[in-house]
Amino acid sequence: MGTTSVDVLVVGGGVHGASATWHLARRGVDVLLVERGELAGGPTGRSSAVCRAYYTDPFLARVAREALDVLASFAEHTGGRDAGFHPTGGLFLHGPADVGVVTRTAAALSAIGTATDLLTPAELTERFPRLALDGVACAAYEHGAGYADPVLTTTGMVGHARDLGARVRLRSEVVGLDVHGGAGRGVTVGLADGTRVAAGRVLLAAGPWTGRLARLVGASLPLTVERHVVATFATGGTDHLDVVMADVPGGYYVKPETGGTLLAGPLTPEPAIDDPDTLDERIHDAEVAALGTALVRRVPDLAAAQPRGGWASLYDVSPDWQPVIGEIAPGVVVDAGTSGHGFKLAPALGGYVAGLVLGEADPGLAAFHPDRFAAGGGLAAGYGEARILG
Ligand SMILES: Cc1cc2nc3c(=O)[nH]c(=O)nc-3n(C[C@H](O)[C@H](O)[C@H](O)COP(=O)(O)OP(=O)(O)OC[C@H]3O[C@@H](n4cnc5c(N)ncnc54)[C@H](O)[C@@H]3O)c2cc1C
Repeated sequence: MGTTSVDVLVVGGGVHGASATWHLARRGVDVLLVERGELAGGPTGRSSAVCRAYYTDPFLARVAREALDVLASFAEHTGGRDAGFHPTGGLFLHGPADVGVVTRTAAALSAIGTATDLLTPAELTERFPRLALDGVACAAYEHGAGYADPVLTTTGMVGHARDLGARVRLRSEVVGLDVHGGAGRGVTVGLADGTRVAAGRVLLAAGPWTGRLARLVGASLPLTVERHVVATFATGGTDHLDVVMADVPGGYYVKPETGGTLLAGPLTPEPAIDDPDTLDERIHDAEVAALGTALVRRVPDLAAAQPRGGWASLYDVSPDWQPVIGEIAPGVVVDAGTSGHGFKLAPALGGYVAGLVLGEADPGLAAFHPDRFAAGGGLAAGYGEARILG
């Protein structure tokens, strides 16, 4: 209870709030992170955490490149902490409609230091002989892609931020936002226990709950929430798949985990749900079976892999499946709408968001402001229905 003050208050201890807090602390800013549950206790902790810089959007391709560099040398950046990053390489399979964009994307990525090979079906067969190539016209192979541990990544950045002086309040919910505007600026933030925090600026990084908070400052964000599943399979006696793979014609992605387990999830949209607090976190047998069938169609020698259940969590989705980042009220900035592909961006994107909060926006961020939708606009993203590839 009582009143306290801080220069920047960050709402949400998922990977995006964690990264912005970390970058602000590294810049010497007085910052307080407020999380209603535990760090990475929401969708971040349920993330498949596939890390690739394979993006069609040039700004996100650059940010992802920078983020993967951070993940690959996380200890150097965070005082010896570990993000659990495994560089497996990433394979992206595409149908005939995508060949032109894939060709241009692979060249553009290689030009900015993301080594990406364009593969014909014949080259794919030679390098990945286990794959059945029905519907595949080309592929891209990103050498430095892989996967990380989403909880370690989040707690690692927050841990280092704390070392640098950041304050963190867990199990503490933001329930009120009162924007002062005008010359005094500043935002009074109300917490559920009655504490009031006088903040110079506020960052809303509350994932699927961001729209609700934005309404407290009179902003209406066009974000929806979707339930998405991850199914797990034990490869048992068969060979493990040791590459992260997005199968666009097949409509799913798959990644390896240590211990002979594979994780698979859809690349396609799901219906919006009304209330993120009523999520059904269980995966249903039919959902596991559908992903298993798609995977075995592409990798027939995984037919003996055993379903091991899985889980469901939430994507906060914007109309174009690209993040929504910008100031939405005086002193209130939003970073949300990551649409199922925001984990790997966070370690670097947080630096850009920190700059925006401090009034030093990188020009590349302007295109991600939520007002892009007002006139029916939006960014291009991914391939057909698989806009999640960004
Ligand atoms: C199943 C699944 C698989 C995914 N796979 C990948 C992948 O392979 N690669 C990839 O890059 N991305 C992936 N993603 C997407 C990625 O995980 C998200 O983009 C990212 O985790 C979003 O992080 P965030 O910090 O924005 O939000 P969140 O993780 O949703 O965190 C928001 C936090 O805000 C807190 N909060 C909410 N309201 C309040 C309040 N009023 N007061 C205080 N705290 C509040 C919540 O408790 C929560 O902890 C996946 C997501 C899911 C669900």
